[in-house]
Amino acid sequence: MEYIPAVNRYETMTYNRCGNSGIKLPAISLGLWNNFGGEDVVKNQRKLLQKAFDLGITHFDLANNYGPPPGSAEENFGQIMKKDFMRYRDELIISTKAGFKMWEGPYGDWGSKKYLISSLDQSLKRMQLDYVDIFYHHRPDPNTPLEETMAALDQVVRQGKVLYVGISNYNAEDTQKAINILKEQGTPFIIHQAAYSMFNRWIENGLTDVLKNEGAGCIAFVPLAQGLLTNKYLNGIPKDSRAAKDYIPFLNEKDISEEVIHKVTQLNDIAQQRGQSLAQMALVWVLQEKSVVSALIGASKVSQIEENVEALNNLYFSMDEINKINSILD
Ligand code: NDP
Repeated sequence: MEYIPAVNRYETMTYNRCGNSGIKLPAISLGLWNNFGGEDVVKNQRKLLQKAFDLGITHFDLANNYGPPPGSAEENFGQIMKKDFMRYRDELIISTKAGFKMWEGPYGDWGSKKYLISSLDQSLKRMQLDYVDIFYHHRPDPNTPLEETMAALDQVVRQGKVLYVGISNYNAEDTQKAINILKEQGTPFIIHQAAYSMFNRWIENGLTDVLKNEGAGCIAFVPLAQGLLTNKYLNGIPKDSRAAKDYIPFLNEKDISEEVIHKVTQLNDIAQQRGQSLAQMALVWVLQEKSVVSALIGASKVSQIEENVEALNNLYFSMDEINKINSILD
C-alpha cells in the first residue's frame, strides 16, 4: 500500500538548530543500529520509519556496520526509502558513519582516507541514495593522522556526496583538534554524536564546553541506556526485549543488576510524579543539556516512538526534581 505521510507531521515536533549551522534537527531522532537488520522483520521496520516521519522525526541515523549482519540496516533502509520516502528526500536528514570493521583486510576499518571514501560509496549504494546529509567518522583512530581522516571528510563534501560532517566517540581534546583541522580545510564541523544519558554523563566533563565554544551541536545517542531507562525491566526481562535477544550482544542479563534496577525504580517514581513515563523523563533530561540538539533513540515498536515523542509535552524540570535525580545517580 502506498504510504501517505500525516499532513500534520510538522505541528508538534520541536526542531533545534544544530550549533551555528543552517540545519535544524528534530528534538527526537531515530537510529537504526538495532531492529533494522537482517534478523528483524522488514514490515515492522517500515512501520517504525513511517510512524517516526508522521510524528515529525525528520532525521534517521545509520552506519555502515548496522545490522546484524553489517550493512543490512542500510540495505533495508534503502528499500524502504525507495518505496516510501524518495519523494520526501528533501524533508529528511539522513546520516551514516564509517569507523568500525566492515570488510576484511587492512582497508576495511578505522580512519584512513582509503577506508572512509570506499565505505561511503558502499553506504550510498546500499541506501540507494546520491548523497547523505551528515557523514561521521564513527570512532577515533589512534594510528591514522587526524589530518588524513579530516581530509577524507572534507573531500566527500566537496564531491557532493555529503552535505555536513561530524565525528562520534571522540574525546574533548581530539574533538578540538579535529575542529581546528576542518576549519583550516574549509569544511565546517557541525555535530558530535556522543553517548549521553542519565547513566552516562561523560560529555559533561569537557566535551560540551568544546562544542559550545565552537558553535557545534551534540546528538545524544543511547539516551535510554538501551532500554534500561524505561520501565521495561522493572519486573524481569521481557521475551521480546533487546536484553533477551541472542543476536544482539550489546545488552545482556548481567547489565540488569539489582543496583541498576534499584536506581531505575527510584527514577521511575520521580517520572510518575511528573506525569511522565521514565522513558519520557530520560529523554527530557538529555535535552536539558544545552549543547544537545537531539536525543537519538532506538525503537522496536511503534508505540515506543509515540510514547517517546510525547516527552516533549513537558520539557521543564524543577530544581527539586533535578536534585533528587542527581542524588539517585550519585
Ligand atoms: P536507546 O537508548 O533509545 O534504546 C532503544 C531501546 O530502548 C529500544 O530498542 C527499546 O528496546 C527500548 N525503548 C525505546 N523506547 C522505549 C519505551 N518508550 N518504553 C520501553 N522501552 C523503550 O538507544 P539505542 O541503544 O537504540 O541507540 C539509538 C541510536 O543511537 C542507534 O540506533 C544509533 O543510531 C545511535 N548509536 C550510535 C553509536 C555511536 O557509536 N555513534 C553507538 C550506539 C548507538 P527493545 O528493543 O528492548 O524494545
